[in-house]
Amino acid sequence: MEKMGNHQAIRPSTTVRAPAPATPVTAAARKSSVNQRSTPRRIAVIGGGISGLAAAHRLVELDPSCEVCLWEARPRLGGVLSTVHQQGFQVEQSADNFITTVPWGVDLCKRLGLGDQFIQTNPACRQTYVVRSGRLHKLPDGFLMMAPTRWWPLVVTPILSPLGKLRAAFEYFIPPRKDDHDESMAAFVQRRLGREAFERLVEPLVGAVYAADMEKLSVLATLPRFRELEREHGSLIRAMRRQMKARPKARTESGARYSMFVTLRDGLSSLVEAIAARLPVGTVRLNTPLERIERCGDRWRLWEATPSATGREQFDAVILATPSKVAARLLEPIDTELAAAIGTISHSGTAVVSLGYDRHQVGHPLDGMGVVVPAVEHNPILACSFSSQKYAHRAPEGKLLLRVFVGGALRPELAEMDDRRLRRLVLEHMALLLHVRGQPGYCDIAHWPGTMPQYHVGHKTLVARIEARTAKLPGLELAGNAYHGVGIPNCIHGGEQAAERVCTSRTRTAIL
Ligand SMILES: Cc1cc2nc3c(=O)[nH]c(=O)nc-3n(C[C@H](O)[C@H](O)[C@H](O)COP(=O)(O)OP(=O)(O)OC[C@H]3O[C@@H](n4cnc5c(N)ncnc54)[C@H](O)[C@@H]3O)c2cc1C
Repeated sequence: MEKMGNHQAIRPSTTVRAPAPATPVTAAARKSSVNQRSTPRRIAVIGGGISGLAAAHRLVELDPSCEVCLWEARPRLGGVLSTVHQQGFQVEQSADNFITTVPWGVDLCKRLGLGDQFIQTNPACRQTYVVRSGRLHKLPDGFLMMAPTRWWPLVVTPILSPLGKLRAAFEYFIPPRKDDHDESMAAFVQRRLGREAFERLVEPLVGAVYAADMEKLSVLATLPRFRELEREHGSLIRAMRRQMKARPKARTESGARYSMFVTLRDGLSSLVEAIAARLPVGTVRLNTPLERIERCGDRWRLWEATPSATGREQFDAVILATPSKVAARLLEPIDTELAAAIGTISHSGTAVVSLGYDRHQVGHPLDGMGVVVPAVEHNPILACSFSSQKYAHRAPEGKLLLRVFVGGALRPELAEMDDRRLRRLVLEHMALLLHVRGQPGYCDIAHWPGTMPQYHVGHKTLVARIEARTAKLPGLELAGNAYHGVGIPNCIHGGEQAAERVCTSRTRTAIL
């Protein structure tokens, strides 16, 4: 979901099964792969979101002679990724940008020739606001998602009470937890920083990203780095301060070129289009939900759901890149235990209300990336991104684009509320929060019910179990946002790794 605030210290959880890095294919590697082939392989990819697209693209990169068929239930590719251009606004209906601290998003864009399309977040607007008692306050400078790196901004912030600040500062002296057991984000943060810092600072920042209930969200599956920091340095504050001291040197050495988050000039749908353009003609079957999968010797038989479908087709391998609920349903007849394990991954949903205003209609200066709203405020708004401040080209001259998020695990009903009521509710609260006057000249509402997997406590163990079980079904691979990270780069990595495993197993078979 929306990424705001200073996330410099965050590394999204990384994928475990990693036989080969997603590097560009050299001519020699491609030649060798082709030489080992006896008959062209048929590979099915189910799901045309970014995970399935990345898988299909990687298959074609690695072995251009294999026949890839990609099934997509809907009339368009991209899954939740969707950019619309209306009334001069460029609106991302879901994901807005992606993180650059892991390489997979940037690498794929470069391989697709989109390297000159990157747009960085506006450096003048890196500030994030947090709501307290209905008013916006700046997140204390140097507060990196979970811990302060500077004392003075924490001392003067009106977001925490004096007692809350004292308790947060005491984190320095709390002994670290040494074992490897999982715990909820709520338990972890309250143990380290106290209840108030959790409710007022961390919950809204992390909650806005995962649309999650923090009492259930797994720290090891979502932000494992913080548990590592706790163990290595004994305290998050000490760890962050050490990292901050080391940072200027590291930056000079690495000559980092990108901001923490980037997007693409024409929107994230241009990534989807660029992948689609690289796939051989006839690869993609839109409007074609896959209905059934069956094992058939060492091959796979697939059934489409369309009435016009003539029946079934056989494939050497299947990459299942649908939402996990669909994967569970498709796998039920093949392995009930695997299907049951996948089916336990629950999802939350959100709705994104994009609003276009004339600049003078908004009383707040909007000098930041956006605002997050703690659950304890009991406001239906989870977060609001100042979209045209982050990326200026998103609104026409003199206009503003705001993207408001509602729903999440704590208010699921809002993700599906009818547009008229939702618009009214959001406008009422926007008027109070940002001093907005009058009606928006532009409004777009996108509903995403059940699209955000919830990595509950124990998620990593669950995924290890799912993968061990999947490994017993040769030719079957899983990809998608339910397993190793919800962010776009993680989904790309998951899809590419699935493709690489399919190709690696083929190479092994050919050699044997
Ligand atoms: C509101 C919102 C904001 C977000 N913001 C960000 C962000 O700013 N940055 C970021 O990095 N990430 C963000 N994310 C997360 C990220 O966008 C998603 O995790 C990622 O795009 C999911 O990709 P996917 O391919 O795994 O799944 P999906 O996009 O869900 O794709 C799965 C596809 O499978 C298809 N399908 C389903 N059933 C079948 C079937 N039977 N047969 C064939 N096809 C089927 C579906 O139609 C769909 O197209 C956001 C997500 C949401 C919902």
